[in-house]
Amino acid sequence: MPRKFTEKKLVIASHNPGKVIEINDLLGPFGVEAVSASALNLPEPIEDGETFIANAELKARAAANGANLPALADDSGLVVPILGGDPGIYSARWAINPNRETKDFDLAMKKVKQAIEAKGENPEGQSAYFACALSLSWPNGDIETLEGQVQGRLTFPPRGTKGFGYDPIFVPINYQLTFGEMEQGEKHQMSHRAEAFQKLVTRCFR
Ligand code: IMP
Repeated sequence: MPRKFTEKKLVIASHNPGKVIEINDLLGPFGVEAVSASALNLPEPIEDGETFIANAELKARAAANGANLPALADDSGLVVPILGGDPGIYSARWAINPNRETKDFDLAMKKVKQAIEAKGENPEGQSAYFACALSLSWPNGDIETLEGQVQGRLTFPPRGTKGFGYDPIFVPINYQLTFGEMEQGEKHQMSHRAEAFQKLVTRCFR
């Protein structure tokens, strides 16, 4: 039997402001008080899992133990099959720029384009998907983990400033706008995170 979420308060086990905003939007209708891991000064665990699921689970468990509250963690990224799944679980790492303190997604998106070109393939229109694992963990060790995906194609140069991360190079199937150009409400109806969240709601919130 899946464990139902009956508490009032939840830690969002992320230090990524873009994700915290999205997860907060998704949690809105459930009257849950969400507090972020950074607001609680929880340390960021080392993400050494080899899958989105493993990383989501280790982040959720660390936050639930650290805060003694249920914790929701997301691990997600852009998967490009022609690159053997890269940047995938390393999506955030591809944005590390030694010359900057903050993540540099212009650099990360450029690396994706260059990596595809290095394979002799065309970056424009290249198949890709976003994947998300969402994990809800309780301090006693109970854990529920769900996955979502959204399929699409890559486009270059990047377009739009509304999203975060790799949104400006990702066009979902049957759409023309990138996730960076779309109203965020529209993205939230179809995103990998929304799909995983819907599954989580069905399993734990109803
Ligand atoms: P992590 O899950 O914190 O390891 O980071 C995943 C990285 O994947 C993020 O920093 C983003 O760069 C990227 N990513 C995940 N979800 C999205 C999304 O919805 N749009 C754009 N980029 C995303």
